Amino acid sequence: MKKRTFLKLTGLAGAGLAVSPFLGCGEQVQDAPEAPSAEPFKGHEQSPLNYGFDALQPAIDAETMALHYGKHHAGYVRKLNAALESDASRRNLPIEALLATLGEGDTALRNNGGGHYNHELYWRVMQPGGASTPQGILAQAIDERFGSFDAFKEVFAAAGAKRFGSGWAWLMMDAAGRLEVTSTANQDNPLMAQLVAQPGSPLLGMDVWEHAYYLNYQNRRKDYIAAFLDLVNWDVVGAQYASHFA
Ligand code: MN
Repeated sequence: MKKRTFLKLTGLAGAGLAVSPFLGCGEQVQDAPEAPSAEPFKGHEQSPLNYGFDALQPAIDAETMALHYGKHHAGYVRKLNAALESDASRRNLPIEALLATLGEGDTALRNNGGGHYNHELYWRVMQPGGASTPQGILAQAIDERFGSFDAFKEVFAAAGAKRFGSGWAWLMMDAAGRLEVTSTANQDNPLMAQLVAQPGSPLLGMDVWEHAYYLNYQNRRKDYIAAFLDLVNWDVVGAQYASHFA
């Protein structure tokens, strides 16, 4: 069943419906389809932040941003590349394709590949100056699926609040094209089709690890979640959604 879902998602990707706008990690395996494993190892890189470490204050403080981007995310990338270096068949796959291959034995790639992908998305779905609102087909789909934008926010906030320990909350599109709110543990994400209960394509990801909020909010995760929802760049989320129908 999971294999079939994975193949469906891969099929979407093959039809040009995948998540490409988000993840500029530099790999272009499609230029060398015959023997990607013979390519020199390129390695993954963090994309530059589109705003300063202090730009999301007071919702997210500058010290949290500096540590989160400069230490946590950077560490995932470093360990991801270390784990990939000897993995000739997968080391130059784009990150989304890599995540789809992961199985139970791929612990280092799961933790660090997920850590890289998830943070690349997280930085992009936030913006200084406060949240926008969903527009167009995404606004319509949210209303149809959740009843209203406010109802969606309640479901999403609850998914983040209820995640025990470290993890993420997601708004994603499943293989049937339906919007879903889910939550995953640790650095898992819906692209890990062989590892997660509900595979799909992430549209919005919220980090609920304590490192994302503890300096400012301590144990008040719900306050951080409310602050996050006031930062969401729905133009980015909407473009991600629309890319599936382009
Ligand atoms: Mn994090």
